[in-house]
Amino acid sequence: MKFNSILDCVGSTPCLEVSLENGVVFAKAEFMNPGGSIKDRIVARIVRQAEESGRLYRGMKVAEATSGNTGISLAMAGAANSYDVTIFMPETASLERRNMLKLLGATVELTPAEDSVGGAVAALEQFKVAYPDVFVVNQFVNKENIAAHYYGTGTEIWDDLNGRIDCFVSGIGSGGTLMGVGSFLKEHASHVTVFAAEPKGASALLGHTEGHHCIEGIGDGFLPEIVDPNLVDGIFEISDADAIDQALRLAQTHGVPVGLSSGANLVAANRILAEHPDWNVVTILPDRAERYFSTPMFSRVA
Ligand code: PMP
Repeated sequence: MKFNSILDCVGSTPCLEVSLENGVVFAKAEFMNPGGSIKDRIVARIVRQAEESGRLYRGMKVAEATSGNTGISLAMAGAANSYDVTIFMPETASLERRNMLKLLGATVELTPAEDSVGGAVAALEQFKVAYPDVFVVNQFVNKENIAAHYYGTGTEIWDDLNGRIDCFVSGIGSGGTLMGVGSFLKEHASHVTVFAAEPKGASALLGHTEGHHCIEGIGDGFLPEIVDPNLVDGIFEISDADAIDQALRLAQTHGVPVGLSSGANLVAANRILAEHPDWNVVTILPDRAERYFSTPMFSRVA
């Protein structure tokens, strides 16, 4: 197939059958997006809409607060379409995230570890005061984040499985994935159950905003504005160790190298299958293992 732009290559990811201890789960391979993560979907949609409406044009300043992956997607869009990209993210983000942002030509502003992603959001707010014309994705409040997953990820999952779905489980960073896919599935099949996979001790839905964990991309220390807790039927709390074990297991038993939030999603899916062995459970593999070579996950095999 021929494409005009890297942004046209986002989405239409494979849905992989993964065997876990308690049964089979269907996992949407979002790490196969061109920027290496699920966040390509929201950036592609929001940038395209802004360009079409004339709000965003070549040479403009664009910025975002992120745990890393949305920044990489925006830097990719910026390099492709000539934007001046500034990314705010916590200094705890992996070295690979920083390096990828630099490779794509973005300016990287690191915020204190103890402030988590909230610190990056605050720094972005200051940047907006200094540069009032800057274009921001605003993933934690922008409803188009949810729409990208409702019309994109959710619709694709429905088609991938011909609507035969009983349960969806995934983590919450901005919450766009869980809200968008969750609402699509519940609207199309009211029996579908939606669960959140959250880092142990750092579940935003349970009000744990101070907990430390190493599952980058979820459990950012606050409950984003776009998250509607009423859509969530239950929460699974996942330890760092379990997420690491499961991510390594997927690489070594399926040849599918993914990051830690994928590991956490699979741990939750496995627990759901223990209770409901007859359910068709769907989850997400949000990003790739290469983004974690400098982190505790890779120390286990290096
Ligand atoms: N996993 C990873 C690795 C991520 O980067 C993100 C986004 N921060 C998520 C999961 C969660 O996605 P969402 O923002 O849609 O909740």
